[in-house]
Amino acid sequence: MGELSEKIALITGASRGIGSSIAYEFAKQGATVIINYKSSEDMAKVLAEKIEKIGGKAYLSKFDVSNPEEVKEKIKEIEKEIGNIHILVNNAGIVRDTLFLRMKEEDWDRVIKTNLYSVFYVTQAVLPMMLKEKWGRIINISSVVAFTGNPGQTNYAAAKAGIIGFSKALALEVAGKNITVNVIAPGYIETDMTAGLPEKIKEAFLQQIPLKRAGLPEEVAYLAAFLASEKASYITGCVFHINGGLYRG
Ligand code: NDP
Repeated sequence: MGELSEKIALITGASRGIGSSIAYEFAKQGATVIINYKSSEDMAKVLAEKIEKIGGKAYLSKFDVSNPEEVKEKIKEIEKEIGNIHILVNNAGIVRDTLFLRMKEEDWDRVIKTNLYSVFYVTQAVLPMMLKEKWGRIINISSVVAFTGNPGQTNYAAAKAGIIGFSKALALEVAGKNITVNVIAPGYIETDMTAGLPEKIKEAFLQQIPLKRAGLPEEVAYLAAFLASEKASYITGCVFHINGGLYRG
């Protein structure tokens, strides 16, 4: 029996990177996981096979988290076919970096829609199931840049800061219902999102990190698994920094 056995967990953007590691860790700890993705179907399938190999249960659910109609439809499907979701990780995210004066409304819109509106859409569709279960864990993935800022990321920093205010308010609304809402704010983690950064920028980041290395997606996953577990029952409305000491709150 794992810490998360008998729980059903939906992880958005789980085909790659941090979301994929969270799904795998949750499955290792006994949860049935729903792997959401938008386009990386092959990677989502490989992850599901990896989970099945260790005796876990995984389902794929393809939907665009920034499309409210798709979100509603697919979450209804999950409820009908798999059951009530107990754990939600709002992880899906994108960047469209550019200096503010050059930023097109489309860059602003895409990032806010995918990183912030998605949290509204998915959480609103899932919350009634947690209320029925009288138990729930919502974990939202923000970023260190919500605290520090980062040139070229006004859109992304705004979305990631928005997630924090959202989570603190929702935590108060649902605390009486045995549902916790927490935020993880990662620093520089090795995934596709950071692989594309120019070497110079990567070097500059590493220089500033007291632990002198980038983080690994599984290190974020261990924290998420703890927050999703019964052991974290008395923690809500909090932000957890995981960044090698780059920012300490
Ligand atoms: P990746 O780029 O490696 O993966 C992003 C994931 O999000 C993919 O699975 C992708 O699915 C999914 N996704 C993107 N858009 C959508 C959409 N519209 N609908 C559904 N799924 C979508 O990112 P990371 O793993 O690095 O990042 C995960 C989260 O962590 C993000 O919220 C990011 O902002 C945050 N973060 C990352 C940091 C880092 O250093 N890596 C630092 C701080 C925060 P698909 O490929 O199928 O489209």
